[in-house]
Amino acid sequence: MNNLLTRSVSCPYCGETIEVMIDCSVYEQSYIEDCQVCCRPINFAVTVHADDDVTVTVSHENE
Ligand SMILES: [Zn+2]
Repeated sequence: MNNLLTRSVSCPYCGETIEVMIDCSVYEQSYIEDCQVCCRPINFAVTVHADDDVTVTVSHENE
């Protein structure tokens, strides 16, 4: 059993659905990862809840 989870999010730039891997062993994290489609930097804010539910918020880098 590992702590990696895959979630689908919409890119804030191009609107394409992309898959991201989330490390559930960290309860609050934010990082920047390039969109797999348009290669622009997306800001990810990830919250892992006690029941292993995960909230992923994406935004433009300069917001
Ligand atoms: Zn994109």
